Amino acid sequence: MNGSKKRIAICPGSFDPITLGHLNIIRRSAQIFDEVVVCVMMNATKTSPMFSIEERVDMVRRAVVRYPNVHVETADILLAEYARRYENAVIVKGLRAASDFDYEFQMNLINKKINPELETMFLTASEKYTFLSSSVVREMAAYQADLTGLVPSELIPEIEEKARTWRKN
Ligand code: ADP
Repeated sequence: MNGSKKRIAICPGSFDPITLGHLNIIRRSAQIFDEVVVCVMMNATKTSPMFSIEERVDMVRRAVVRYPNVHVETADILLAEYARRYENAVIVKGLRAASDFDYEFQMNLINKKINPELETMFLTASEKYTFLSSSVVREMAAYQADLTGLVPSELIPEIEEKARTWRKN
């Protein structure tokens, strides 16, 4: 390992929308690594996202604005390919439950096949966010439930607004 090089964490996800659980992993990564790249994945397999890629990126950017060593990008290629753009980058993911582990273990094997140099590290979810996912937020928003404590407070009005129109589709 070359000690003079910056260590970069790539935090990938679909962020549809970003939650306080995501933000917790990003913030902790920013404390450990020199730089964090939050990579908003277009995600070929997830159909009909609630927010467009532009909206998701914009929300993530506003949520991380207070962290100077965090920046936001998008990728419409496989994560293992995308990571080649950065020297010394590792993937950092959050682990909530055993179900996350099974999925991530499988993903890690696939990523290693594509890019053997690439390492993935896991941070365990903070206890108060173990139940939290973007799909929980979408579900709650669709039923006009209170989103306080689930997503950054400044994003609540636009998530509520989107949920109103999204339900009609
Ligand atoms: P979701 O699973 O909420 O749809 P993503 O696909 O955007 O979210 O997930 C991106 C990454 O964020 C994954 O590594 C996932 O494990 C992690 N993550 C999502 N929610 C949480 C949470 N509440 N706490 C910790 N990590 C999380």
